[in-house]
Amino acid sequence: MALATDPSLRSSDVSHVLVLAPAELAAEARLAATAVGAVRPDLALNVDTSVRSVGALVSAVQAVPDIASSAAEVRETVRRRLLASISGAWLPSVTKLANPNPGMGLHIRSLVARGAGFIALRDDPAWVAQLPLKQQASHRISHLAEGDAVCFGELPEPAISALFGFGLTQRPTRVDSLPDVAGEWGSAEAVEFVLRAPVVSRPRLGTCAVCGDPVWERTCPFCHAGLRGAAPTTSSGALQ
Ligand SMILES: [Zn+2]
Repeated sequence: MALATDPSLRSSDVSHVLVLAPAELAAEARLAATAVGAVRPDLALNVDTSVRSVGALVSAVQAVPDIASSAAEVRETVRRRLLASISGAWLPSVTKLANPNPGMGLHIRSLVARGAGFIALRDDPAWVAQLPLKQQASHRISHLAEGDAVCFGELPEPAISALFGFGLTQRPTRVDSLPDVAGEWGSAEAVEFVLRAPVVSRPRLGTCAVCGDPVWERTCPFCHAGLRGAAPTTSSGALQ
């Protein structure tokens, strides 16, 4: 709710607000947007939630160029970056890991020996394994050789070796740790990382009939209006 009291919202320079949140915080994000709408009813608001981790959201936002031409371009950049991202973590133990589910076998191994720890991938394909990996796993993630990775804290070397096994060709870039890593991964010692394959962009479909911003979908995500010059349509299907 701190969003609604952010002093920058009072500025007439702010015309659009994009609220990004992980899917499990969707209700809170919508509540925050409602509060913002009460403060500034003239604002164009969009709430976008993602099943990706907080780290993936942070990484996607950091990929937005400093000078974006519109709020719609910011939203599209974040969305395409998230689609090309896989979030994971190194964990010393998986006894409290819920997403992805490590299964009973790894759960028991976690109880009897710490060893080099475990690696978990949350997004498709969700996967958990004990380190060191017994075999190459590059088939699990495509195009990673052309991408890169960031890690939120210091990854142990066995975890970095596993990332090279996935096809990464350079060491991950270390950035600051994330808050509440225990809430997300079940361990306060977990170190999250995001694997970033090249982004696949898509052409925009036109411009919004109300705000004039570029639109990549059938309606403007902020104004909910159709495209300029487009015939009315009854289709409501999502493009992705
Ligand atoms: Zn619009």
